[in-house]
Amino acid sequence: MPLDLYAARALDAADPLSRFRDEFLLPTDADGAPHAYFAGHSLGPQPRAARAWVLEALDDWARHGVDGHFAGKHPWLPYHELLTDSTARLVGALPREVVVMNTLTVNLHLMLATFYRPRGRRTLILVESGAFPSDCHAVASQAQWHGLDPARTVVALAPRPGEAHLRDDDVVDKIGELGDQLALVLFGNCNYLTGQAFDMPSIVQAGHAAGAAVGFDLAHGAGNLDCRLHDSGADFAVWCNYKYLNAGPGGLGGVFVHERHHRADVPRLAGWWGHDKASRFQMRPEFLPIAGAEGWQLSNPPILQMASVRASMALFDAAGIGALRERGDRLTGALVEWIDALPVGRFRMLTPREPARRGSMVTLHIPDRAGDVAEQLQGMGVVVDLRRPDIVRMTPAPLYTSFQDVARAGRGLHEALT
Ligand SMILES: *Cc1c(COP(=O)(O)O)cnc(C)c1O
Repeated sequence: MPLDLYAARALDAADPLSRFRDEFLLPTDADGAPHAYFAGHSLGPQPRAARAWVLEALDDWARHGVDGHFAGKHPWLPYHELLTDSTARLVGALPREVVVMNTLTVNLHLMLATFYRPRGRRTLILVESGAFPSDCHAVASQAQWHGLDPARTVVALAPRPGEAHLRDDDVVDKIGELGDQLALVLFGNCNYLTGQAFDMPSIVQAGHAAGAAVGFDLAHGAGNLDCRLHDSGADFAVWCNYKYLNAGPGGLGGVFVHERHHRADVPRLAGWWGHDKASRFQMRPEFLPIAGAEGWQLSNPPILQMASVRASMALFDAAGIGALRERGDRLTGALVEWIDALPVGRFRMLTPREPARRGSMVTLHIPDRAGDVAEQLQGMGVVVDLRRPDIVRMTPAPLYTSFQDVARAGRGLHEALT
C-alpha cells in the first residue's frame, strides 16, 4: 500500500525540514488552501522573504539614488557578492569559482566563447540527444558562428534502441570514440525531460582524456542534486535560479568556472563588470579580468532580480543541500511507490528507478491521456507540468513539498488513471 494521508501526516510531523514549507507562498485554491505544487522544476514558488528583499532595494533606490551603489543596508556595487558563498556551497564550488549573472542561455554562450575553441580536426561538440532546445540552439549557432556546419559538428548521443536512458558507459565510450575530433562535451547533469542524472566525474575524466573541454547545464541540477562541481573537475557549468532555486520568473543565472581557468589570458567576451574591482572606475580601455568567475561578468547587475535570489539562497543555506537531497529521495521514492501501484499498460515512467540516477523529478509518458490526467490533477489542487502531447512531469521539491502533498498526488494519479 503506497503512502496514505495518515502515514504522510506522521512523516511530515517527524521531519525537521518540514518547517521550510511555511517559508513559501504557494498558489492556493479559491478557499486559500495551498495547492500541492509539483511544478518547481519549471518555476519555483515565491519565498516569503523575497518581497522584503526586493522592497529594500526599491527603498534604497528611492532614498539614495545613485549613492545606493555605496550607501544603504546592502550597497549595490558589491551586491552580487552577497550570493557568492551560498551559491558556492549549493553547487560544491570554491567561492571564486561561481558568480550569479545574466540568464542561462546568455551564460552558456559566454562559456562557449571561452571553452569552445575548434581547431583543425578538433571541432565536434557532444551533447545528449533530447537536450533542451535552447542548449541545442546555442551549440549549433556557435558551430555556425565558427564557420562550421552544425549538422556535422554537433553529435547528439541517444539511448540504445528501446531504452529510455543513456548508459553512463555508453557516454564514456562515445567520448573515447570521438577522441581527437572532440572539442567540447556539454551535458545536462540532470536531463530536463527524463530526469536522468548523469555521472559528472566520469564524463569529465573521459572528456579530458580525449583532450576536450567539458561543461554542464545544471538547469535541473542546481538545488536538486548535490553537484560537487569543483571535485567533478568540470571546466564550466551554467544554470538558472528560477526552477529549483525559486528566484522568480526570468531570475538570474549562475556560472561556474573551474579555478584552473582563472588566468587573465583565457579568451572571453569581456565587459567592464568583469574588470579588476580596484581599477574598474579608472575607466581605462585596457581589460584586466578579475581572477575568478566574476571575471566573466559583463554588466552591472539587475539588483531587483538579485534581491529575490538572496531570499531563496538563504533557505538553501539554512536547510543544506545534503539534507534536502536525502529528503528529496524519500519524497520521490514515495511518489514512485504510488506510480508502481498504477494499472500497467497506460503509461511509462521515463525517469530512472535508481535514486542515484535521478533527482526529485518524475516523468510519466501517458499516451493519449496526459492532458486529461494533468487537468484532473489540477482540479484536485495538484499542480503538475504538462508537455504536450503526452508527457507529465512532477517534482516533489524537498524545500516545500510535504509527504501529504505526495499522498494527495498519488491518490490523484490513481483516480485519473484507473
Ligand atoms: C530551463 C532551461 C533553459 C532555459 O534557458 P533560459 O535562458 O533561462 O531561458 C535552458 N536549458 C535547460 C537545460 C533548461 O532546463
